[in-house]
Amino acid sequence: MDVHERIERFRQMVEADPENDLGHFSLGRALMDAERYDEAAGALRRAIELNPRLSKAYYLLGQALLRLDRRDEAIQTLERGLQVAAERGDEGPRAEIAQLLGELGVEVSQAEATAQPTSGGFRCRRCGAAGPQLEEPPLSDALGQQIQQHICTACWQEWLAMGIKVINELRLDLSQRRGQEIFDQYMKEFLNLP
Ligand SMILES: [Zn+2]
Repeated sequence: MDVHERIERFRQMVEADPENDLGHFSLGRALMDAERYDEAAGALRRAIELNPRLSKAYYLLGQALLRLDRRDEAIQTLERGLQVAAERGDEGPRAEIAQLLGELGVEVSQAEATAQPTSGGFRCRRCGAAGPQLEEPPLSDALGQQIQQHICTACWQEWLAMGIKVINELRLDLSQRRGQEIFDQYMKEFLNLP
């Protein structure tokens, strides 16, 4: 799917399902790829309004704002994103945001510059709940194992409902490798898996 097709499909997705935070996020990312930073910032802001825990959205929004020469706003957004990522234990976005802030000459507090130690016991990577966990991996591959280890039952059930919407709204053909890849990527983002 080229970038214009991605923009078009995600735009249709958020029109059909305006509360879909990940839809707005994906639209924002596609608009970033097309260097349409002003529109990207709008979509990413909407994603954050709908889901303030979406740490990756702060990172992208910060980048969009920098491209638009709105440096102060960018730094504020990134600092907020760093906090969110550190609280949630989102290691990838946390490291990326810390690095970008460093490049901008912003001092990052030690607590946020290093990963939070994970306290013992299960914690869902998507919602932070302590359980219940799935009794068995929901898929037979490595991703299924990862889901059982990191995702609670309620979030998995939410995904099952969302997955059907994603297939319909993005018109994915899961018999094709490309369709399967887009589906898997969306699932990982929805579940907040690395
Ligand atoms: Zn959960």
